[in-house]
Amino acid sequence: MNDARTRGYIDAWTKSLDLKGMTPHEIERLCTLELGQKPGRGLAVAAQIFRGRIEDLDAMTGVNSQLRQALGLRCKISTSTVEKVETSEDGTKKLLYRLHDDNAVEGVLIHGPNNRLTLCISTQAGCASGCVFCLTGRGGLARNLTTAEMVNQVFGASRVAGSRQITNLVLMGSGEPLANYEAVKAFVEIATHSSGMGFSPKRVTISTCGLVPMIRRMADEGMNASLAVSLNATTDEVRSRLMPINQTYPLSLLMQTLEYYAEKSGRTVTIEYVLFKGVNDSSEDAVRLAELLEDLPCMVNILLFNPFPGCGLERPSDIRASIFRDLLVSRDIVAVVRRSRGRDISAACGQLSVLSSNTHASRVPYEAIGG
Ligand code: SF4
Repeated sequence: MNDARTRGYIDAWTKSLDLKGMTPHEIERLCTLELGQKPGRGLAVAAQIFRGRIEDLDAMTGVNSQLRQALGLRCKISTSTVEKVETSEDGTKKLLYRLHDDNAVEGVLIHGPNNRLTLCISTQAGCASGCVFCLTGRGGLARNLTTAEMVNQVFGASRVAGSRQITNLVLMGSGEPLANYEAVKAFVEIATHSSGMGFSPKRVTISTCGLVPMIRRMADEGMNASLAVSLNATTDEVRSRLMPINQTYPLSLLMQTLEYYAEKSGRTVTIEYVLFKGVNDSSEDAVRLAELLEDLPCMVNILLFNPFPGCGLERPSDIRASIFRDLLVSRDIVAVVRRSRGRDISAACGQLSVLSSNTHASRVPYEAIGG
């Protein structure tokens, strides 16, 4: 029940459980242990909700009336509203989700090659991390999102996508996913379970600003998702200026932890490096970055900063980005310059901002990440 409260799937007043916030295993346990059903029935219910996208118990097939009635008394299935959709010239869609308490968060649907359709998901309303290049950091943290609110972003975006199937999920919208660890872990389980949404773990990516203890926890608990880290600097002096988290978890500790994670999980880490003109984009930075990454199985996504009013940071030239990439590649680091998407609708790198609410959203939707 502690989990239920932390992750917000139990209503404090009615004690009703939100099935969309429960993992397939938890639904199975509820059905067998509490509702006296045969093994497998709970997983079948989970599959109908998460794979079949059925939000009404009465519309479920193959669920006996006794179970349907019992679930109806004990549970609910929450829904959410996509309040606004904006479409960019390049096809990128920015979505505004309205939450039950009138907070709002944004998401982005990004088309890629080979029918790839990536959904960028928010994990918190606002963010406490305070990265200076991010609008979310300016508004502070309103609250953590529940697992069900993350699941509902996938449901809402799927409706917007119509016949196109979402193929990849990136937890890269507003918020620091690892600061909302329990809810995110349950979301990943729902996203990747065969009785959940059934995404390949390679196609679910958690992006963090570098919460060292939680990266260790991901490794130790075998979290079934890929990891991306927003690095953005090669010295503690610059990184601490850009990202206050670095004062608590400096570069050497972060790199050590990433190496531990890569070894324990057997996964390659994605390094996100946003270039800021004259701050972190020099050839010396590229060489230092290659040295920092030499023992880490990784690939580097290089992004060009999208300035917003009052940020005090500038976008470097495309040529500077190419030189930076070439220096990394010449030192055997896999590196790609990524195109920002949806710049004309403020859905690109660092441009998202929920102006219509008391929260701000997000930062780095870019083309194609992960498999
Ligand atoms: Fe938070 Fe990420 Fe923005 Fe940093 S970049 S303030 S961690 S949302």
